[in-house]
Amino acid sequence: MSENQQKRPGRVVKTARLSWQPANHGTAQGSPCDGPADGDAPFADEFDDIYFSGDGPAEVSHVFLAANDLPQRLAHASSFLVGELGFGSALNFLSCWALWDRVNNDPGARLHFFSIEKHPLTVDDFRKAAKAWPELAPYAEKLSSVWPEPVAGFHRVTFGRVTLTLFLGDVMAGLNVLTAQASLSFDCWFLDGFSPAKNPAMWTVLVFQALAKLSIPTITLSTFTAAGQIRRNLESAGFIVSRVPGYGRKRHMIRAHFNATQTATTINPEQNADTPAWASLETLSPLPHGAQIAIIGGGIAGASLCHALRAAGLRPTLFDGAGIAAGASGNPAALVMPRLDQAVSPTSDFFVHAWLHTRRLIDQYRDEDPTLFTECGVIRSHEKPEERARLRDMADAGLLPRHLLRAVEDGLYFQTAGLVDPRRLVKHLIGNTPICEQNAARVIHDDGRVLIEAQDGRTHPFDAVVFANGLNCLRFVEARGLPLTGSVGQLDLYDTPYGDFPAQAFGPYAGPTPDCAATIIGATYDPYKEGDVVTTTEVNRTRNLEAIAAFDTALDQTLDARLADVAVTSRAGVRCVTLDRLPLAGPLPDWAAYGADYDGYRFGNPEKTAAGIPAGRYQPGSFILSGLGSRGIVTAPFCAAMIAAQMTGQIAPADSAIQTLLHPGRFFIRALKRARPRRPSS
Ligand code: SAM
Repeated sequence: MSENQQKRPGRVVKTARLSWQPANHGTAQGSPCDGPADGDAPFADEFDDIYFSGDGPAEVSHVFLAANDLPQRLAHASSFLVGELGFGSALNFLSCWALWDRVNNDPGARLHFFSIEKHPLTVDDFRKAAKAWPELAPYAEKLSSVWPEPVAGFHRVTFGRVTLTLFLGDVMAGLNVLTAQASLSFDCWFLDGFSPAKNPAMWTVLVFQALAKLSIPTITLSTFTAAGQIRRNLESAGFIVSRVPGYGRKRHMIRAHFNATQTATTINPEQNADTPAWASLETLSPLPHGAQIAIIGGGIAGASLCHALRAAGLRPTLFDGAGIAAGASGNPAALVMPRLDQAVSPTSDFFVHAWLHTRRLIDQYRDEDPTLFTECGVIRSHEKPEERARLRDMADAGLLPRHLLRAVEDGLYFQTAGLVDPRRLVKHLIGNTPICEQNAARVIHDDGRVLIEAQDGRTHPFDAVVFANGLNCLRFVEARGLPLTGSVGQLDLYDTPYGDFPAQAFGPYAGPTPDCAATIIGATYDPYKEGDVVTTTEVNRTRNLEAIAAFDTALDQTLDARLADVAVTSRAGVRCVTLDRLPLAGPLPDWAAYGADYDGYRFGNPEKTAAGIPAGRYQPGSFILSGLGSRGIVTAPFCAAMIAAQMTGQIAPADSAIQTLLHPGRFFIRALKRARPRRPSS
């Protein structure tokens, strides 16, 4: 049974069911032919419509690029946000990216392309479709190596100066998530959702009203259709519409801009009913393009921030007196697999998307660094046979498609999971970010500026700071009260190949190093107190071996014996963990304001003013990414992309439920709620 035919609940989205017809067939729809050939064009069976007509790139150039004046507008932009309804074969995206490269050569400028798609193409179908556009081949090649998996939600990937954010799901679901994000402002929209007669859901007044909420007076939009009903729907949502010559045999198409006089009533972002006021981000003022950001900490959190902030057009500098990847990120190997829950929830969404995000990042470096990652597959084995049914339920929860996750005799099999070399990943992510090999001693907030006083007493001015220094963030007053603790982990590296098996994990894990030359076994989990001396011990090696001997799997029961007389080196480090085992990622609350605004939680509910419960207030220019536990490699890049979006007011790759889940203010609010006085029992 193919992926398309299976009924899968959960988060897996149905990929597009296609036929293929000869390209250059003009705008008239011919009947799809059966035998696909190179250069054939895709035809959507479900919608009975074509993805593009005639010479695809020429049509896109006329209908979307020229109609929105993009050759001129992109040339002078330092930052530009395009929105699209209907990602389809990605032709519009690739054409826009190629145009950007042609007309804009400012190294600091950024293009962000956002698109919504309900039924994505498979990567094979995309590759086949892209053969018809040889002029876009280098772009298509880059995209195909990180083609998004069919999982509902955001998929973010950055190619140098260009970022693509794809939302997989229905158009209204995507627009609702966007309208809940504060201060987004699109520069133009491409409406490309099949013909309105065949797919009216993409052309409703509700869809256009949502676009209006995301519009600024300078926005433009265009579409291939000139249908009267679409013109009227756009006008009723506040757009000023004109009919202009269409492409090929189409006499007309629509070009529109936003009616600025309506903005006051239509563009205010909606307060998202699902976001509690304390987690609202509406009081954050976006940092300007090119703002300078200090990142404190040179591990995977800091490195991920370097990558994400540069992608967002900010200018980061990294501070770490111990050098790069000196802590837990200096391990020789780390598992790259998601944590799975039994049901669809913000937590499971977070872990699944964070994992997919990290996998795409790793894939972008694999050509230049082939032993960065081994895709050996990972079996999440069961400790006890009774666990089998629970693991099967997880596989059936529909969180991931079957080619990524399936139940096998020994547990759950993640076919594309594996092990990465964290030290090299950290280096790639840091790229050419300036590094100051000094610890930050103090952060001084001075009239909107953030001054970092380094160990050597010198101060460096910035627009904002991110604390990405694990437990050490507690040394800074901004983060002092956060409930972070340490946990010591030892892992052991055996100088013998692991063998041609999937890695195994159920907490403890065993697998190959990314170059497949050695075997890694990890890791202990012991409490840490400030001041403890962290060392490796023989006792912990034995504990690690005993733990993997408990794997209830037939895969490699000889592993224990094979490692017996092999040279071994060990490494111990301190992980930084939170009470709920989820990262802290986001703006740091103004603790005094939180205390005042939400004190009512101690007695039930916070006081409402006339405007409702006050929105969360934050310390100026202060953010945190910490508490990554043992999953930093999987979660840090995604969290960093989310923080970069929060700083700049750009699209976050996470909906508001995930942003609330990771919000640094959550423990403060939970403590207030727990402090609620109970009635004395009589
Ligand atoms: N822009 C695309 C390109 O460059 O190839 C072509 C888009 S194609 C004409 C229309 C796309 O809209 C299809 O990929 C289809 O799956 C998608 N679509 C249709 N209905 C949708 C809906 N309700 N929500 C989101 N996407 C939808």
